[in-house]
Amino acid sequence: MALVNVRRDVTDAFYRYKMERLQTKIEGKGNGIKTVVTNLSSVAQSLARPGSYLIKYFGFELGAQTNIDPPDDRWIINGAHDAAKLQDYLDGFITKFVLCKKCKNPETDVHIKDGRILLDCKACGQRTDVDLRLKLSGFILKNQPKKGKKDKAERKAARRAKQNGKNGDKDSGSGGDDNSDQASPNGESKDLGYASDDDALTRKIKAEAQVLDDEVKVNEDEWAVDMSAEAVKARQKQLPDEFKQKLVLNGEEEDEEGEGGGNSLYDQLGVWIQEQAEAKGGIDKVDDIDIYLKAKELGIESKHRTVLVLAQTIFDENITSQIGKRAGMLKQIITSERHEKALLGGTERLIASMLEKHPDFYDKVVKILQLYYHHDLISEEVVTKWGSRPSKKYVESSVNKKIRKAAEPFLTWLAEAEEEESEEESE
Ligand SMILES: [Zn+2]
Repeated sequence: MALVNVRRDVTDAFYRYKMERLQTKIEGKGNGIKTVVTNLSSVAQSLARPGSYLIKYFGFELGAQTNIDPPDDRWIINGAHDAAKLQDYLDGFITKFVLCKKCKNPETDVHIKDGRILLDCKACGQRTDVDLRLKLSGFILKNQPKKGKKDKAERKAARRAKQNGKNGDKDSGSGGDDNSDQASPNGESKDLGYASDDDALTRKIKAEAQVLDDEVKVNEDEWAVDMSAEAVKARQKQLPDEFKQKLVLNGEEEDEEGEGGGNSLYDQLGVWIQEQAEAKGGIDKVDDIDIYLKAKELGIESKHRTVLVLAQTIFDENITSQIGKRAGMLKQIITSERHEKALLGGTERLIASMLEKHPDFYDKVVKILQLYYHHDLISEEVVTKWGSRPSKKYVESSVNKKIRKAAEPFLTWLAEAEEEESEEESE
């Protein structure tokens, strides 16, 4: 299926946000002629909007009747309409109802609050208004989902979109689960919404989160790396032959937990990354996809221990400005709790290695965890467990204790945000 950039004015082939090109089929004839948009659900999913918004938008633009809730996924516009023309209209829909008005990022949630329709941007954190004079705005306001709950079909769609992203198919559905429109009572989502009580901790975290959002925005272009199978393949083609060769590996699991043997492949990856960094004049100049391909060449691109190596090699004392740029690649590899734990373990080791030169490196712990969380690299469950169980698996226990201690403000904030959310849900 042909993919196009969500923003067609962006010509970069590595643009992260993709969707299927609209496909149509004309059926019937005469007065009964109609256009079936055969992949409307998929496109709607990529945009994290209900299909009804898209079809209705086409209907308004074309002055044609549409169905907004087809039981069989047959989305219909009365009359004969050309797919290319619909694609042009879709650009309008995306500009008006998807893209952040401030930074033009398509990863936004719709929030309805006090009769306004707000786009909540995951990239820059801004909330911007949709023009209420647009016909579709009226439709959106009239067809709000039930408070705080998504309907079943939408939840399913969000899950599917998330899975698609995980399969490396395309990343456009990332964050699908928390996408779309929860009209929660105060209109806040946990990512960005903080408690309104203004104790010192909340203020501190809030201030840091603001800085964080600004940084994320600065990094936006760089972290928008397309790690889809297609993009990786395309990149692979550009590489010299020796690099394309795959090592023949036996399928044995490498000493998974082990501190002992079986490290050679991971060492090779680590050494290779360090050499590349040296040759290119800094780790930040080593490309994500090249790192990923190297791991793949070694046959360890899906292993949790790879994450342990990466945390210690792709980051350095500038880690807080590096996480955003590497989040796309890391997300591709981090697929389980074990991977998340490896990320935290590798980070502990990185921190320990920085202490000699930067004794105050503990100060960065909150920010690091915030960034990991913000970019979906660690889940609440895993980081909470990590925080409550000191371990000397990765670093000596005195360092470990200090890291846990330094993490406390973040963990407290997380626990409070969680409480608030469950209160909201039980209302
Ligand atoms: Zn934005």
